[in-house]
Amino acid sequence: MDLSTPIEKVPRIGKVLEKRLKKLGIKTVRDLLYHLPLRYEDFSNFVPLAQLRPQTNVSIRGKILDIKSRLAWRKRMTLTQAVVGDQTGAIRVVWFAKPYITDILEAGSEVIMAGRVSQGKKGLYLNNPTYEKITESGFSISLQKSKIAGLMPVYPETERLSSRWLRSIIRPILANFKNQAQEFLPEKILKEFNLLSFPRAIWQIHFPDSLALAQRAKVRLSFEELFLIELFVLKERIKILQTKAHPIPIDLPSIKKLVKSLPFTLTNAQKKSAWQILKDLEKSHPMNRLLEGEVGSGKTVVATLAALNTAKAELQVALMAPTEILAKQHFREVAKLLFDFKLTIALLTGQDDKIMAKKLKGEVLEASRQKILAKCLDGQIDILIGTHALIQKSVRFKNLGLVIIDEQHRFGIEQRAQLTQNSKRKTQNAPVPHLLTMTATPIPRSLALTVYGDLDLSVINELPRGRKKILTEIVLPSERPRVYDFIRNQVELERQAFVICPRIEPASSAGSPKRRQPTSWTDVKAVEEEKEKLAKEIFPDLRVEMLHGKMKPKEKEKIMKDFKNNKIKVLVATSVVEVGIDIPNASVMVIEGAERFGLAQLHQLRGRVGRAEHQSYCFLLTDSPARKTQQRLKAMVKAEDGFELAQKDLEIRGPGEFSGKKQWGLPDLAMESLKDLVLVAKCKTAAKEILEQDFSLKKYPLLKERLERFKEKIHLE
Ligand code: ADP
Ligand code: MG
Repeated sequence: MDLSTPIEKVPRIGKVLEKRLKKLGIKTVRDLLYHLPLRYEDFSNFVPLAQLRPQTNVSIRGKILDIKSRLAWRKRMTLTQAVVGDQTGAIRVVWFAKPYITDILEAGSEVIMAGRVSQGKKGLYLNNPTYEKITESGFSISLQKSKIAGLMPVYPETERLSSRWLRSIIRPILANFKNQAQEFLPEKILKEFNLLSFPRAIWQIHFPDSLALAQRAKVRLSFEELFLIELFVLKERIKILQTKAHPIPIDLPSIKKLVKSLPFTLTNAQKKSAWQILKDLEKSHPMNRLLEGEVGSGKTVVATLAALNTAKAELQVALMAPTEILAKQHFREVAKLLFDFKLTIALLTGQDDKIMAKKLKGEVLEASRQKILAKCLDGQIDILIGTHALIQKSVRFKNLGLVIIDEQHRFGIEQRAQLTQNSKRKTQNAPVPHLLTMTATPIPRSLALTVYGDLDLSVINELPRGRKKILTEIVLPSERPRVYDFIRNQVELERQAFVICPRIEPASSAGSPKRRQPTSWTDVKAVEEEKEKLAKEIFPDLRVEMLHGKMKPKEKEKIMKDFKNNKIKVLVATSVVEVGIDIPNASVMVIEGAERFGLAQLHQLRGRVGRAEHQSYCFLLTDSPARKTQQRLKAMVKAEDGFELAQKDLEIRGPGEFSGKKQWGLPDLAMESLKDLVLVAKCKTAAKEILEQDFSLKKYPLLKERLERFKEKIHLE
């Protein structure tokens, strides 16, 4: 048995438990050993039974003298009573509603227990203690040798796997591994960062000799994930530097012409970002840049400058948006901006398999899918705009120079390779297109140094002049009528409002982090109900509509159009739909169940309003009194800066929060070390040093193997 042995080969793991483990993403012995305790229970100081005092928490060790279960309280609940004795005395033990205990413990069993001593009518007793049976196979072996049971791990009890059972499985595996487990981090790193060795750490994290050692073990394991992420990301970066791309010269006259034609002046941040992008395009290796900017900061114009420059060099551009509505919005925007440049700009949407193309100069050209695809392959289309469907195999370009992806943090190396293959001239060393991704999600600095380490970053950190701070308020559900009155007032001033319904997480969504799920039917139901309520009871005289991911594209488009034209006053929607929609006239954002969203997401939602000169407002509705929730929402009220919010979110919610994990696709452990910016920076330097000396990790075969496996686990998006 080694670390990669599948769990079904582990003794005592049957079909049922195998299934439960797999639900948690535990497939191999390694996964099992990396299923880490949440906390520990201290069994190290056993109190002799004669010295027990009421109202104290104790650990005891002894033998079961007697044990029985019976139904109590009109037979509603099982009451289990036992007597435990040691050399000094005996004590009564009571458990409620745990009928199975008599299957585990019997008279004669050696046990250790931890719990609270209570004073009853018949004397002292232990109330509902946790217990461990001392057997030949379990942890008891070392217990008998060392005479100390020490700290017992308590695991997250999901999927009906008890800590007791996990201990009994993990302990023998660890014992087995003692001589086999091998260190894979370079010696130098262990020394530099003062880390426990792998065999020691993996033992100490499960069965620590002291809490201090458990903590050091955690530091080591969390460092190791951070280090692997750095290695992975830096390798990608170096690979890109070694790849060929079309160098695209800067066409200054065209750039100037476009900038001059704008109805506004670019902000300094826009200028700076655009310049960084244009300089990247000049290089003979592909650009890999993330353009990060708050909602409304004007990323589209910057992207359009890059597209224009590329098209002028006779290379094609693909621009992708996450939804059809956004693709259409981009199409209209880009077409308008580039009106004078005599380029062919086409829109390709996947709706109902019918693909539409429009040509510039206001002329609308509807062509068959075949026709568009043929033109694209011919190089007659300069800029092709669409959803992510653009990277389907059937879409081929003559000479793709630049790919722009909106509202995405990351675009995988594989997807990029796919795009390259879609180019017509498919030779061995074909140039790879430049890549620009755009996001409105602010990325905390520690993530920028790690997960996004393979990307260059351009940040638009200022909003166009004249935008006002969005006034934000936390509101109790009981104050809803006030919010509705407020909406009504704003509508009288010709403004419009959004009402966002909370996302409802399906109960089974735990487990391995996946990509964001599309809208579920439960979400749809919530939206429908909210819309009904608002339309019938609250605003019977106003037009209230809804928008969600399960509507037909035609319906969605109609709603969007009417909202944009101020025919609809209140739009009820799910949080996932239409991330970047631009409705400058909307001034109120109401977010129901605000506690269910991360700060970054709340910030994005809030950014749907305040996109023009009107003062705008955001109401965060929550009935959660939890301290953390309040802390988070208060941060929303205070902060305007998305970056500040993102780092706060990471700090307040911590790595345990599932949604953060889902958002970044990172293991808990790695998230833990991300809180420590100094460590992150040092780790990065260390990883870089190793790769500079030995890119393919020839000298570190174990590390190389570990990295390969790690890559399969993380989802860097
Ligand atoms: P986002 O970064 O959210 O994608 P957009 O590119 O959609 O933002 O821009 C939001 C709005 O701001 C658009 O209507 C755009 O025309 C406008 N805009 C962009 N840059 C400026 C600027 N420098 N000054 C004024 N308005 C601008
Ligand atoms: Mg946008």
